[in-house]
Parts: sequence; structure tokens; C-alpha cells
Amino acid sequence: MSNIEIVQNFINSENDLYCDDCLSEKLDIKPRQQVNQICNKLKIQGLLKREVKQCSSCSKDKLINKLEGF
Ligand SMILES: [Zn+2]
Repeated sequence: MSNIEIVQNFINSENDLYCDDCLSEKLDIKPRQQVNQICNKLKIQGLLKREVKQCSSCSKDKLINKLEGF
């Protein structure tokens, strides 16, 4: 599975909202910039929304990733 599929599957299977840093930690995709690039790519494809909300993992107000239409 490619990293982009790993990120996509994870977000698909979770109801929680995760920032790029926590996705990087949980999915072990390093550096964090790679997660950032993947999420921006998914956003451009219309699969993800990115907005500032409280992250479910680190509880900070950050740019989180969620499914489009969720
Ligand atoms: Zn977080």
C-alpha cells in the first residue's frame, strides 16, 4: 500500500479528526511534510477537507483532516 492509500484508509476508518503531526506519528509516515503533501493532494482531489479544529489526538487547535462531506 502506498502512503497516500494508508492515509486515505486511516481517515476513512476513523471518525476522529487528526492533524498532520498526529497522522505522521500514528501511521509512521515521516517526515511530517510527507503527510502534509499527501493531505494537500487528497484535498485537491476533493477527497479531504482541511480546516482548523481541535485534533482528537493532541487536543490542540490545528489544521485537521476529515473526509469531504463528513
Ligand atoms: Zn494532533
